[in-house]
Amino acid sequence: MKIGFIGLGNMGIPMAKRIQDAGYDLIVYDTSATQMAIMQNYGAVPAESVSMLSKHIKCIILMLPNSQTVKNVIEGEQGLLATLQIGSTIIDMSTSNPLITKKLGAKIERHGSTLIDAPVSGGVGKAETGNLTIMAGGDERAYNQIVPVLKAMGSYIEHVGPLGSGHSIKVLNNMLSATHLLATIEILAAGLKMDINPDKILKVINKSTGRNLSSEYKIPNFILNRRFDSNFSMDLMCKDISIALDMINALKCPAFLPGIVTQLWNLANEKGNRLYDHTEIVRLYEEWLEVELKT
Ligand code: NAD
Repeated sequence: MKIGFIGLGNMGIPMAKRIQDAGYDLIVYDTSATQMAIMQNYGAVPAESVSMLSKHIKCIILMLPNSQTVKNVIEGEQGLLATLQIGSTIIDMSTSNPLITKKLGAKIERHGSTLIDAPVSGGVGKAETGNLTIMAGGDERAYNQIVPVLKAMGSYIEHVGPLGSGHSIKVLNNMLSATHLLATIEILAAGLKMDINPDKILKVINKSTGRNLSSEYKIPNFILNRRFDSNFSMDLMCKDISIALDMINALKCPAFLPGIVTQLWNLANEKGNRLYDHTEIVRLYEEWLEVELKT
């Protein structure tokens, strides 16, 4: 079976490699020649353009930065819809805006094809080992047909509801993740001001009720060692939580923390050059408090 893959970034490369390793014929496209060369060296066939890809392939995965790019790739002048064959399935695995996903889905359906949203959680490490969590939304029959492809990339795969449900859960999850990273940094900084070593605080927290993924994994592995190499950018985190906040506001939900959390992340992003790793959010607090959180 032939699979098309568009968007060969930090996540796209390891995910595409998993598909190739699973024995599918892989045709790839990215605007970056460097990223294309990586997959070409790995044995994938390069497509000349997005529309050339959809001319020949009926199952196409997107792993792109945001909804605007997804929209351009699907319905732009030289986009997928220009040449897409009837009965095709497009799988948007990017973290996209669910409201835009629904609109694009309706357009693709009028074309006689299907859009499935199937964003992922787990980051580059889990993408490399094929252990991503995948939350899929959309037509269940189309979903069942693509499960074997998803299994090449993920170890926990769940159909979560109609089109847009996967993207909704994904941005809500990232809001929670962005919140516990900030909350944990704040208490570590307070502890440091009391002359308590951050390693000691984490050691105790991780055996206590305050533990979370940031305390157990992100802070020791990317912040305290000053490596900041999670491969998930500040820009992408800000994009994800802004989508979640817009969604929460549009639904008029009583949620007070997301607004504050989003403001803090945007503030940090404005200070950086927009290429910072998301774990560099710690620098915001370090500047305010004149301390450095390190081992
Ligand atoms: P990235 O910026 O590293 O990669 C995006 C890729 O898309 C780049 O290679 C870029 O050249 C390519 N691209 C941009 N515009 C294009 C176009 N018009 N046509 C073809 N290719 C184009 O991003 P990433 O970290 O791989 O993340 C991709 C998506 O996955 C994002 O939506 C992100 O929010 C989500 N995500 C990322 C992580 C992570 O840990 N990095 C984890 C889960 C989900």
